[in-house]
Order: sequence, then structure tokens, then C-alpha cells
Amino acid sequence: MDFSSGFSYAPAPESSSHVKLQKQYELFIDGKWQKPVKGKYFDTVNPATEQVLARVAEATDEDVDKAVKAARKAYDTVWSKMPARERGKYIYRIARMIQERAREFSVIESMDGGKSIRESRDVDVPLAANHFFYYAGWADKLEYAFPGKKPEPLGVAGQIIPWNFPLLMAAWKIAPALATGNTVVLKPAETTSLTALKLAEIIQESGLPDGVVNIITGAGATGAAIVNHPDINKIAFTGSTGVGKRIQQSIAGTGKRLTLELGGKAANIIFEDAALDQAVEGIVNGIFFNQGHVCCAGSRLFVQEGVADKVIRKLKDRMETLIVGDPMDKNTDIGAINSAEQLKRIKEYLKIGVAEGAEMYQPSCAIPKKGYFCPPTLFFHTSQSHRIVQEEIFGPVLTIQTFRTVEEVIEKANNTPYGLSAGVWTDKGSKIFNMTTKLKAGVIWANTYNKFDPTSPFGGYKESGFGREGGLHGLSAYLKNS
Ligand code: NDP
Repeated sequence: MDFSSGFSYAPAPESSSHVKLQKQYELFIDGKWQKPVKGKYFDTVNPATEQVLARVAEATDEDVDKAVKAARKAYDTVWSKMPARERGKYIYRIARMIQERAREFSVIESMDGGKSIRESRDVDVPLAANHFFYYAGWADKLEYAFPGKKPEPLGVAGQIIPWNFPLLMAAWKIAPALATGNTVVLKPAETTSLTALKLAEIIQESGLPDGVVNIITGAGATGAAIVNHPDINKIAFTGSTGVGKRIQQSIAGTGKRLTLELGGKAANIIFEDAALDQAVEGIVNGIFFNQGHVCCAGSRLFVQEGVADKVIRKLKDRMETLIVGDPMDKNTDIGAINSAEQLKRIKEYLKIGVAEGAEMYQPSCAIPKKGYFCPPTLFFHTSQSHRIVQEEIFGPVLTIQTFRTVEEVIEKANNTPYGLSAGVWTDKGSKIFNMTTKLKAGVIWANTYNKFDPTSPFGGYKESGFGREGGLHGLSAYLKNS
């Protein structure tokens, strides 16, 4: 297909004039904004413009201790004693307030994290509200969720989240913890603190009792201080496998409960009998959604040999139409890479792929000169032993392999240290069932990809971690006796 005819969309930028950001953000502890004890702050940067958006407080051990004490006091004196029905009302109120301020949240999420406004507006923010709605409903029905058991909260939960879905990950963590009667100390990632801090504003306005949710900002050392605090009962972590392993080591023998949602390297498998145009959309969504900063991204494509040429031609054509650029433009498909460090890491992998002998393909799309951007990238002629096939790149980079038989693709798909997700595209229900029983992945999508719902559990096996978030499983991770 010829894409040089000059057709292009007129810019459709979302306004940010209604968004009020403070110059400096403090720590949200015990229902109040508190200055960090050591007085340290760091900048948070818009990755699309490289401009500083705000200064954010850096919590040290002393601040973490204050936050945990506030959470303990709130747990002992208020939250664990409150009738579950009342707890549910607060969670429901938070959900409604996120909906009311959805536009503001979407704009800040795109400015701080680089994701396209279309995705933050249509995916991140509505899903975050839905998680609070869903778990609000469960708060007074825990005996029905776990019949014959007497579910009890764990106490204080320490929650550490990454930068790829900042508000949504905060919702995944906070909503089930509150519904089950736990109190929370949450740390967002250093590069994307702003929507978690906005959520703290909502929590304050909602009248949630002081100390039930504490949101403290900082880098890895702040996360480690939460993990190592002796009065925490449970750690919920989403992030890299390396940090997850360190956390597991450091809490061994402490009796703290742990859920780890770590990396992935998902196989997206296209059979000859699949609806190919839909499958191509699924490939694009699987790897280029959120710039590929997705733990369950379909980053290893397997195409059955008979349709490989056709699928690759269609995929290349589709990639020519992708718009990479300003996250605030509603036409943008692929926004900015989250940080300069992450862009550097992705570029290193591009070099590694070429050095390993794979053939790199990028469409002719223009990318902005300022900001951190990476064009969507394919690698052909890859094999199982290539590092770009085995390691999580966390960017818009897809490796492509072909296969002949079902047995071969199952073997290849499972040949990875990870086990978070997979995709299967075929016309045959029986083939889907066969694949889903044999693929070692916590979540498997059939004829679709990257679909999320609060009612549906999410989590992995092997080096992708353990424990589930979402659905009933997400409740039991915060309960004794369930
Ligand atoms: P990290 O795992 O370092 O970050 C996740 C969260 O953990 C952040 O809030 C981080 O803080 C915090 N953290 C960092 N070190 C510690 C520690 N020792 N103890 C407790 N908490 C800690 O991911 P990165 O941001 O460094 O990304 C590196 C790579 O990890 C990416 O390239 C990607 O491959 C992978 N990744 C995977 C994710 C997933 O969901 N599977 C999510 C994010 C990254 P801070 O960011 O402030 O340093």
C-alpha cells in the first residue's frame, strides 16, 4: 500500500488549561499534607517535552515510619472497627469522585507519564474508577465471597507500584485493601507520582478517616523502607522481577504476606485459521499499547508459517498508519517513553537485537525531536536464544518467529522464565481450549488482547510473580482465613 499520498489528521490537542498542578507536593500522611522530615524533593518531568511539571517530596525512613504509624492507628481505632457497609460507602465515594474528575486525571496521567490521552482517557481512568466501584460492592459481602470462612483483614498493607499505569495500579492496590478492612501505605514510582497525589486529594475530600490511606513519594530507597518496616503486615508489589526478588528475600522469615506482580514476555500466537485483519489489530494493540510499557504486552509474536508473509505485510501496512508523538493529541497512537532512562534501556535492546543478527524494521513515521520517543519496531529472523526474545524490553519492540505445529508453538511460547500472559488467535474453539490448558501463563486472551476488567483476576507464574489482583482472588490476597 502507498501511504505517501499526504493524507494526515489535523492536530486535535486536549487542553490542559483546566488542570491545576502545584509547584511542590508534600507527603500525604494521616490525612494531612506533611513536609518530608529531611526536606528533600525531586523533580517530576513531562517525558514528551522534558519540562519539569512539579517538585515532589522524597520520603525517608522517618517519613515511612510516620506513615506506617498513622496507618496502624487508623486500623486499630477506626477502620477495622467500622461496619463493612460504611467502609463500602467511602470506597464508592472515591470511585464517584474519580469519575467526576476523570478529565483532569487523564490529562495529568498523560503529562506525567507520556501515554496517549486516548489511552489514559479511555482505559486508565475509567478502569481505575471501576476497580473502586467493584470492590466497594464486595466490602459488606465478604462472607458470601468466601462461604464458610470468617475472613479477617491483615492489618497494614505496604504497596509499591510502577510507572506504567500509575493511577490504575494505585486503584488495583488500594480498592481491595480498603474493602477488606486493611489500611494502606502506598508509594508510586518516582517518575509518575502526580496522579497518585491527586488521588490523595480525592481521598482527603472524600472524608475517609485520617491514616486509612497514606501516599508517600520517593524512589527505590523509600520502597525498601516500606518493605523493611517491622509493623507492615503485607507487601503488594508491582514492578521488575529483579526488585521483586529482592523484596522476597528481605521479608523472608518475617511473617509478612506478599504478592508480586512482575515482568512478562508474552507470546501472541496467530494460527492460519485466524481472522487475520483482527489478529493484526491484536498484534498492534498487544505490543504498542502504552508504548509497550505493559507487563503483559504481547512482545513475542508467533505466526503460523502458511500465513506469515500475509500477516507481516498487513502488520507493516498498519504500522505505517500509526501516529507517534504528542501524548496530548487525540490522534496519537504511541506517546512518549516514560523516562530518559527507559528510552536508553530500549535503545540498548535495539542495538543488542541487531548485534544478535536479527533484522530490524521501523516504519517511516516521524517522531518529535524533543522528548523521549521510540518508533514502533519489529525484529525478524529471531530465535529462542536471542536476548531480545528472552528479556523484557518494556518498549514498543516486537520479535517475530514462525511455527508449523501446535506442539512447536507451545514449546516455544513456554520457553521463557516468565509466565504472565499470552494471546491465541484462531477460528477454532477446541484449539483455544487446547492452548489455554498448555500455555504457562496466568492470563490468556483468545481472539483479543490487553483486555482488563475488575472482576477478572490477573497475575502470573514463574518469574512473573505470584498472587492475583482483581476479582475475588484480589480480595483473598488481603484477608486471613480466605
Ligand atoms: P522497578 O521494579 O525498579 O520499580 C517498581 C517500583 O518499585 C517503583 O515504585 C520503584 O521506585 C520501586 N522500587 C525500586 N527499588 C526498590 C526496592 N529495592 N525496594 C522496594 N521498592 C523498590 O522498575 P523500574 O522502574 O526500575 O523499571 C526497570 C524495568 O523493570 C523496566 O525496564 C521493565 O522491564 C521492568 N518493569 C516491569 C513492570 C511490570 O509491571 N512488570 C513495571 C515497571 C518496570 P522508583 O521507580 O521510584 O525507583
